[in-house]
Amino acid sequence: MRTRYGIIQAMKNNCIFCAIAEGEIPSFKIYEDDLVLAYLDINPFSEGHTLVIPKVHSEGLLDTSDEMLAAVVARVKKVAAHIKATLPCDGFNILQNNGEAAGQTVRHVHFHIIPRRNGDALAFENRKGDMDALKALSDRLRM
Ligand code: AMP
Ligand code: ZN
Repeated sequence: MRTRYGIIQAMKNNCIFCAIAEGEIPSFKIYEDDLVLAYLDINPFSEGHTLVIPKVHSEGLLDTSDEMLAAVVARVKKVAAHIKATLPCDGFNILQNNGEAAGQTVRHVHFHIIPRRNGDALAFENRKGDMDALKALSDRLRM
């Protein structure tokens, strides 16, 4: 059985998103290829709020190569199109925070896809997700 200490030790770069990319900790994965992973945010702003990350660690936009950014953004587009086609979703925001001052809490570059509904007046605030609902939603959205 993995201990909490073991899981923490397994966190490459001391980074929770690297640990997710390595499969060391679970995620509600909806898309994966050789370079990129997309999974549901566990504290979503809205239903279907998804994070898209490169599997290789970098901290933010400025230390990520142009080639990797091009690959990640292409997957952001692909996953966003799928979410929009699958959920009740009228539009979406893409959010990408850099640095504590900008609200970045996880220092592994990531793009948020935030599904929107007409007139939802959404506040960009994390709400604790219901794990059973997230599991069901990730099954529905898996590509
Ligand atoms: P940011 O504020 O841009 O750094 O966003 C980090 C996001 O990661 C937040 O919206 C968190 O809810 C989300 N998050 C943190 N840990 C996990 C996790 N283990 N699985 C999925 N999402 C996570
Ligand atoms: Zn990382």
